[in-house]
Amino acid sequence: MAKKGVILCVCQGTCPSFQQMNIFEVLNTLRREKLVDFVAIHPQLCADDGDTFFNVFLAGAKDSVEKLVVAGCDPNMQKKMFRDAFEATGFDKAKHTGVDIRNMTTEQAVEAIKKVL
Ligand code: SF4
Repeated sequence: MAKKGVILCVCQGTCPSFQQMNIFEVLNTLRREKLVDFVAIHPQLCADDGDTFFNVFLAGAKDSVEKLVVAGCDPNMQKKMFRDAFEATGFDKAKHTGVDIRNMTTEQAVEAIKKVL
């Protein structure tokens, strides 16, 4: 069955851009409202081990994932940073949607993510 999910990426959790929101509550709200099939938090998807994460995760899931929302930094930056990992795993990059949630509160981040689901 096709799955829809959200990964929150938070610049190691140390960047002020993510300090106004409760990242766990952002994902819990989406879970409570049953808007997604899976959620995850990764500290730094643009680091080398972010590529490894995508390789491991998408190796088994590239066909079953119909939509992968990454909430974090600028969507255009995401496209460039994740391109190699998506190509390496054969994941259709059209299934990836980025959403910028920097400097948002919990409620604002939830609303921004809902808009792209
Ligand atoms: S992918 Fe974006 S949100 Fe994630 S660590 Fe890199 S710059 Fe920050």
